[in-house]
Amino acid sequence: MSELNTVVIVGSSLAGLRAAETLRLEKYEGRIVIVGAEDRQPYDRPPLSKKVLSGEWEADRISLRKPEDLAKLNIDWKLGSAATSLNTITRTITLASGETIAFDGLIIATGSGVRKLPNQPDWKGVHVVRTLDDSLALRANLNPGARVVVIGAGFIGLEVAATAKNRGCEVTVLEGAPAPMMRGLGAEMGHAAALVHTDNGVSMRFNVKVAGLVEGSKGSVGGVALDDGEVVPADVVVVGIGVAPATQWLENTELELRDGVVCDTTLNAGLPGVYAAGDVCRWFNNLYDQEMRVEHWTTASEQGAAAASNLLAVSRGEDPKPYSAVPFFWSDQFTARIQFLGRANGDETAHIVVGSPEERSFVALYEKDGYLKAALGVSRPKQLMPFRKLLAERATWEQALELVSTFVAT
Ligand code: NAP
Repeated sequence: MSELNTVVIVGSSLAGLRAAETLRLEKYEGRIVIVGAEDRQPYDRPPLSKKVLSGEWEADRISLRKPEDLAKLNIDWKLGSAATSLNTITRTITLASGETIAFDGLIIATGSGVRKLPNQPDWKGVHVVRTLDDSLALRANLNPGARVVVIGAGFIGLEVAATAKNRGCEVTVLEGAPAPMMRGLGAEMGHAAALVHTDNGVSMRFNVKVAGLVEGSKGSVGGVALDDGEVVPADVVVVGIGVAPATQWLENTELELRDGVVCDTTLNAGLPGVYAAGDVCRWFNNLYDQEMRVEHWTTASEQGAAAASNLLAVSRGEDPKPYSAVPFFWSDQFTARIQFLGRANGDETAHIVVGSPEERSFVALYEKDGYLKAALGVSRPKQLMPFRKLLAERATWEQALELVSTFVAT
């Protein structure tokens, strides 16, 4: 690959920032441009459904870095104008503002955008949670006694449900699937991990089909209509039905797009000097012999660093390294700290090996074909984390049970 003089990072969130930091850490002295759709310096998203939403933290607490540390990175920021297209022949990107920027290296870290209901109306009281502005707008409506209906029992939905309940709202969660957090944890463990919601008086409904939203007073939401004709009354509706990778701006390029930007094991997107990281990246994870896309904080952080490191390595004539980490995420809901290591595809068997759902505190291990595939901890961080090493070593089920036998009952 030719010399690197300008690296453009598209996406100014965690993955993009970690990419820029890694370039500087690894002694790249050329120009770094970071393009961001939002007109804000990078901020942390996990508090948007928790501490910022609850009012415990103000917005200034969630900056990812102090201004003086950002200044040291010497970045040319292009904020408030999204990238709208990529030309891989001229090696340029174009922004919504009309500006065109040439690059030698490109890191695509555009994340994902929220899914909405078909024809979702823009009424007062209807919310999504993806950006800081979204979180602050919802917070202003979470008043004691407000009837809040959350559509989707995924991570956003359940974290918002817990925060809203703690603020004194009446909360109902409507989920299309038979269980909460089903895609991440599987049905049985999803139910077991979400018991804290019913304990705290959240009404949880599964297998429901939302037909649409119902208007209350003019221009405000009044309820959620289900396909059997029932209307669940609501002052506030939060739509948390998942996200889609932000790849629209790449549609007319030769990059392979398939629920994300398809990358090899080193996060290269199929063109010299072009890498992807974070929610938008679908890469081949050697550890699982499987292509995957992971929408969680730790992966965004690690992949931003790995993509930058590999971009530099190749430009210096060195070999890039495969990114093959054990995926990890956590979610705080009421008093439960849910932590998950590895990957569950839905065809594993989950075994509770420590604690129990009745105690609201347990570790479950996911087994398939004699191997350990994933581990879930609910409020058991000490006993969960040792499984990370085993997962990284592709441990057998027997090895996993050996580790369990060393735990002293607590
Ligand atoms: P999510 O975790 O994918 O959950 C969305 C849920 O909504 C799924 O259970 C989905 O079921 C359900 N659903 C979809 N359409 C529906 C409908 N019409 N009616 C009722 N339910 C419906 O996505 P999310 O909770 O919206 O979170 C957005 C992103 O932020 C995700 O990438 C998530 O991982 C990330 N996030 C992570 C954390 C964390 O790591 N702690 C916290 C917050 C957010 P199906 O799967 O059957 O479609």
